[in-house]
Amino acid sequence: MAKKILKCQNCGTYTMKGKCPDCKGKAVNIIPAKFSPEDKYGKYRRAGKQKDLKDKGLL
Ligand SMILES: [Zn+2]
Repeated sequence: MAKKILKCQNCGTYTMKGKCPDCKGKAVNIIPAKFSPEDKYGKYRRAGKQKDLKDKGLL
């Protein structure tokens, strides 16, 4: 299981504690990139991969 990574809302420092070690700001959970709703091309990448598998007869 992946460790929980938090990011300081104030200065952007990554930490694993609820409080930023640099500025004592509040650190919040970051969303893993693969689940990012901003990843517009993720669905096309996945579609491409599925097509690859089909082409190879793996699906
Ligand atoms: Zn900070």
